Amino acid sequence: MDIKTLVRPNILALKPYKSARGEKLSGILLDANENPHGAVIEPVNGEELNRYPDPFQLEMRKKLSGYLDIPSEYIFCGVGSDEIIDLLIRIFCEPGKDNAVIVEPTYGMYKVACDINNVNVIPVSLDDKFQIDVNATLNAVTEKTKLLFLCSPNNPTGNLLNKKDIITIAEAFKGIVVVDEAYIEFAGSDSLIFDALKYNNIVVLRTFSKAWGLAGIRCGYSITSPEIIYLLFKIKAPYSISKLTSSAVIKAIENYEKKEKYVSIINEEKERVIERLKNINGVEMVYASDANFILFRCRNSKEVLIYLADKGIIIRDRSSHPRLNNCLRVTIGTKNENDLFLTGLWRALCEVSS
Ligand SMILES: *Cc1c(COP(=O)(O)O)cnc(C)c1O
Repeated sequence: MDIKTLVRPNILALKPYKSARGEKLSGILLDANENPHGAVIEPVNGEELNRYPDPFQLEMRKKLSGYLDIPSEYIFCGVGSDEIIDLLIRIFCEPGKDNAVIVEPTYGMYKVACDINNVNVIPVSLDDKFQIDVNATLNAVTEKTKLLFLCSPNNPTGNLLNKKDIITIAEAFKGIVVVDEAYIEFAGSDSLIFDALKYNNIVVLRTFSKAWGLAGIRCGYSITSPEIIYLLFKIKAPYSISKLTSSAVIKAIENYEKKEKYVSIINEEKERVIERLKNINGVEMVYASDANFILFRCRNSKEVLIYLADKGIIIRDRSSHPRLNNCLRVTIGTKNENDLFLTGLWRALCEVSS
């Protein structure tokens, strides 16, 4: 697909900001108005912090490249995947003119990021199994549709989307298909990162915020065609990823076995919590999950939520979506946390009016 024809004309024409620290990172650095004496704090993680970080994130992308077995030119790092969602909207969607298709119920940030950018959203429903209704989705596309957001495993429903359907859409849709894989580590299969090497209109989003346990550093990444990577670099803030973030990511990748251990502990707990939930009176539906959370439906979900919050147990209300009446989403915590949640839920359902 010809990506250029999809890009906003002002972004195509844009002369990007040229960082002082373009290519050269060493020498007598008198080009960026930094403090030559050093930072007012000791180095953190061995990083001298008085100098700006590498705008091209070369070291971190090389590390990710080795870990993923994907060439660096296909990798871009953002301040969380949320930043990349916003950058994609700003690259492709002309405010007030273009639109994005969002397959619902799903992660709320796609719509919020579109709303912030004054980009119209066309919502399409997932089918009754929370899978893509391929025909309805493709029929929702207009000639102004530039982006189509899919989330797999989907938040908040928890299920992987059928990979075959995603590919069908990527082949038929003359725009950019964003596949958000924030929870893919918990699913362990069906990632589209290698398909993004083949289809230049697929953008896969990943994050360090979930399985890797690094929500605090704010780092996400995307795997997509070098044409789109170029555009992301073109419009991002020059020094978006801090030295602290990139050094944490590099260390994390060296520790990837720990991530895998956490994933298996969480997945095991998830199955236990699902079984327990199914046996609680008043829980009407427990959805299968390929992620690190569970969606379930219970009676009087609003009251249950308040009861739990009152006991200091915070879970997420997802009932506002018409398809998710009385649905709550709970993240898998430690065994102890999960037990406190299960006991709290059981008590709540005994006590709230039936
Ligand atoms: C949590 C989450 C993210 C993560 O966003 P970051 O900005 O990387 O923390 C992205 N997509 C979905 C669907 C999520 O649930």
